[in-house]
Amino acid sequence: MIQQKQPKIAIIGAGPGGLTLARFLHLAKMPFTIFESDQSEDARRVTGGILDLHKSTGQRVIQEAGLWEEYEKHVSYEAEDLIIADRNNELLLDTRGQTKGRPEIDRPALRDLLLFSIPAEHIRWNHRLKDVGEDGTLHFAHGKECGYDLIVGADGVWSKVRPVVSQIAPFYSGTTGFELWIPNPAAIDVDMDAMLGNGSYFVYGGDDRVLMAQRQGDRSVRVYAFVRRPESWIKTAGLDFTNRQAVKSYLLDEFRAWSPELLRMISNCDGEIIPRPLYMFPVGVRWPHKEHFTLLGDAAHAMTPFAGEGVNTAIFDAYKLAQTIIATPENLETASIIYEKGLFPRAAKVQQTTWEELLWTFEKDAGARLAERITYLIDMHSKGLSVREGMGSDNSMDD
Ligand SMILES: Cc1cc2nc3c(=O)[nH]c(=O)nc-3n(C[C@H](O)[C@H](O)[C@H](O)COP(=O)(O)OP(=O)(O)OC[C@H]3O[C@@H](n4cnc5c(N)ncnc54)[C@H](O)[C@@H]3O)c2cc1C
Repeated sequence: MIQQKQPKIAIIGAGPGGLTLARFLHLAKMPFTIFESDQSEDARRVTGGILDLHKSTGQRVIQEAGLWEEYEKHVSYEAEDLIIADRNNELLLDTRGQTKGRPEIDRPALRDLLLFSIPAEHIRWNHRLKDVGEDGTLHFAHGKECGYDLIVGADGVWSKVRPVVSQIAPFYSGTTGFELWIPNPAAIDVDMDAMLGNGSYFVYGGDDRVLMAQRQGDRSVRVYAFVRRPESWIKTAGLDFTNRQAVKSYLLDEFRAWSPELLRMISNCDGEIIPRPLYMFPVGVRWPHKEHFTLLGDAAHAMTPFAGEGVNTAIFDAYKLAQTIIATPENLETASIIYEKGLFPRAAKVQQTTWEELLWTFEKDAGARLAERITYLIDMHSKGLSVREGMGSDNSMDD
């Protein structure tokens, strides 16, 4: 009997997208190797905010991947609570005790859920891809690899696989974030701790500034301060990010017109402050198919976080790609072409929604508008109806 040759698949990046693809290939008993730049599996245990998986995308994929039971152990329905305020700390919405059916999960918990669902020998840690040669050779910081039938770029917005298939680079979205951390809020500011509640506290200034606090599973709080600024600003502002006190003073000055109660989210920060200038690809970005290569998640269509769709789309892409590969393992080109044909229009819709969310996030009535949408989502969920449009929508993602 002639043994069919098993295809060789390389996945670059062990983020949510790359790991989801790996999980499905593992279930189908197909060989693959993940190359990840992180030094080891422990590298991201303490970083990242909370994420909500949406019913028709993220949650559906977790179910299809046979990980639902484990996922449910890590989600928090309390963390779904959302309080929206304006810059005077006047409340516009308080959803405590209500649900949209989208519990939150800590980013490291989601990563571990996927990571431990595949055998460890499939992952090569400490493999940072530098570039890809014309002949498909993968050049890493230490050494090279070749002979792959399919190379999947799941390596995020600054993908090193992407330049092989497209010359369209990410562009600056006009928005920069600062990620702050309050490791033990209850111990240092009981009033602020109580104010923030168990979930998210979003404040829309209507003045090119937004503060978003999120309670983590360990009760610490992660705060994102977003401002609309030119791309060069982060360099010209002269901020030394190793000097936490100086960055805090700078931010307190930025937000000086806001209620002092809100400024405690900045002054109480007691951890690293990470600058996050936000980059994205143009809405509707696509590329002509390139033999032996494809992309998924942020590498394909990075968006800003304002619609909460990035992770959902990345893992849904991975699921769709896995389906096509598993259907035609003997013809990975056909599989990639079918996948990309579905990917482009599907991603374009989510990119468009996200782009609009970004624009109105900084408009005067942003808080009131979000309050209205969240109320609608809760109402629809309580009636058992799925939502087809709007913020963080559960649009059916079928092609
Ligand atoms: C501040 C912020 C908040 C966000 N909040 C949300 C949210 O609430 N909800 C939501 O859905 N989305 C959110 N997102 C977006 C979300 O994080 C991304 O869309 C999602 O992580 C994309 O998954 P991915 O697997 O495609 O890429 P990534 O998560 O970027 O993973 C890429 C992986 O590839 C590895 N890698 C990178 N370069 C290389 C290389 N050269 N060689 C080898 N490995 C490499 C990385 O180490 C990483 O493990 C947010 C993003 C930001 C910046």
